[in-house]
Amino acid sequence: MQQPQTPANTNAASAAGNFYDALQQRFASGTTFIQAANGAALHTYADLHHRSGQYANYLTGLGLRPGDRVIVQVEKSAECLFVYFACLRAGLIYLPLNTAYQQEEIEYFVRNAEPSLVICSPAAQASFTHRLAGRDCRLATLDADGRGSLATDLDSGDYLPAFNSPPTQPDTTAVILYTSGTTGQPKGAMVSHGNLLANTSTLHQAWDWQAGDVLLHTLPVFHIHGLFVATHLAVYNASPIILLPGFDPAEVISLLPAATVYMGVPTHYVRLLKHGGLTTTVCRNMRLFTSGSAPLLPQTFDAFAAATGQHIVERYGMTETGMNTSNPVHGERKPGTVGPALPSVTTRIVDARGQVLPRGSAGELQVRGANVFKGYWRMPAKTLEEFTADGFFKTGDVAAEDQDGYIAIVGRNKDMIISGGLNVYPKELETLLDKLPGVTESAVIGLPDSDFGEAVTAIMVTVEGADLDEARVIQYMKQHLANFKVAKSVHFVAALPRNTMGKVQKNLLREQYGRVV
Ligand code: AMP
Repeated sequence: MQQPQTPANTNAASAAGNFYDALQQRFASGTTFIQAANGAALHTYADLHHRSGQYANYLTGLGLRPGDRVIVQVEKSAECLFVYFACLRAGLIYLPLNTAYQQEEIEYFVRNAEPSLVICSPAAQASFTHRLAGRDCRLATLDADGRGSLATDLDSGDYLPAFNSPPTQPDTTAVILYTSGTTGQPKGAMVSHGNLLANTSTLHQAWDWQAGDVLLHTLPVFHIHGLFVATHLAVYNASPIILLPGFDPAEVISLLPAATVYMGVPTHYVRLLKHGGLTTTVCRNMRLFTSGSAPLLPQTFDAFAAATGQHIVERYGMTETGMNTSNPVHGERKPGTVGPALPSVTTRIVDARGQVLPRGSAGELQVRGANVFKGYWRMPAKTLEEFTADGFFKTGDVAAEDQDGYIAIVGRNKDMIISGGLNVYPKELETLLDKLPGVTESAVIGLPDSDFGEAVTAIMVTVEGADLDEARVIQYMKQHLANFKVAKSVHFVAALPRNTMGKVQKNLLREQYGRVV
């Protein structure tokens, strides 16, 4: 497929080949890979190498060849990580799917990706069998405990752990991740071995990973955050991972004393604070808390610092680019910002014509670097559209940079509201509304309006007993904002709809309130 010749592609070409090989050179085989809650070693790095080698032999023995796609929709387990690393080793393209996807959505992925193998949970076996009928695609199962036909077949065969990876170029596709955008048709982002190595080594240095670090892992492994950022960094550091099936605040608080690093989405931090029991003592061994995938409210940052003495490191990235910016580990962490560009990542903020804006002005954030993906799977036109002629990827995020180079994400381009011909950035309004006493959080959307084109609409979540109504909220907005930004209507809800990564699903709000207004 014809790709734009981005500096990302050219940079990557000079790096090492197979990402797994680069990781493997760094792990000491006797050290713990997966650690139980009681501190016992469940698997060592030697086990990871051994088992992923066996799986690589097994998968190639099935007839799978480099470049073939392996769709994986399973619960999180150490076993599925072994399979992931096996795919990297064998040059197979790993394609993880959100476990929440329903069969109708899966139909699209199967048609689009044309996999040679699907690995699913035993419960989904029957529907996948039906879906794959007539296709040249195998089906295997793996459950949350790492059991299923896949593991059984592996154990009943005599598969050698030694495996020689086929020649892999840095721009060879390693993983296809369907973007978890909250609107539109999913696009398969092709992430290369070189992209993975570039972003992992950059973050490893930026976050100052150290010998003795232990990662408490609660994120899903079908998404960039849990698979690339969390898992890759721990493996690159040869650190033990306490691998939990998901996020449970009580469990996290009980296990924090055994960890030094935690990576979460903002909702995790809100829920940890709400749960109670979060203290400096609980966090005594913690070196690093990071947050991303959605905006962390400054009040959450402050409340977390007050409870634990820890300042969350907020970073920003996306499926297509990996991580682009991060607040510093050594240096000021500014709440409400995602920090400066990471070393080796170039960012710029441009206006609608693509002209670079002066510092302080909000515009579209564009990024370039060896971390930036190759393009969208089988969508060459879309890929070309999303890159500029000089190789920058158009993130679609609206951002502004302060005098120190710290970037604040102001919103998404597509969330921008045009009311009476004037641009309204929801994030500006949400930040203001969140400061109103009694408000827990808010979302601002534009709804079709015959007069204004779009009408600014605020959806609010308030604390119990808050003395707020539509008139008071509108009056408050009028005191602080130009008239065209003031909400035309205000709705109160118990909670905002969010997807698995904690992002507010504004499309659902637009759908719901578009009907009632
Ligand atoms: P995904 O591809 O699912 O990782 O989503 C990427 C999008 O999440 C970005 O384009 C941003 O809109 C949003 N995002 C990620 N991290 C942050 C952050 N720290 N603050 C605000 N938005 C974020």
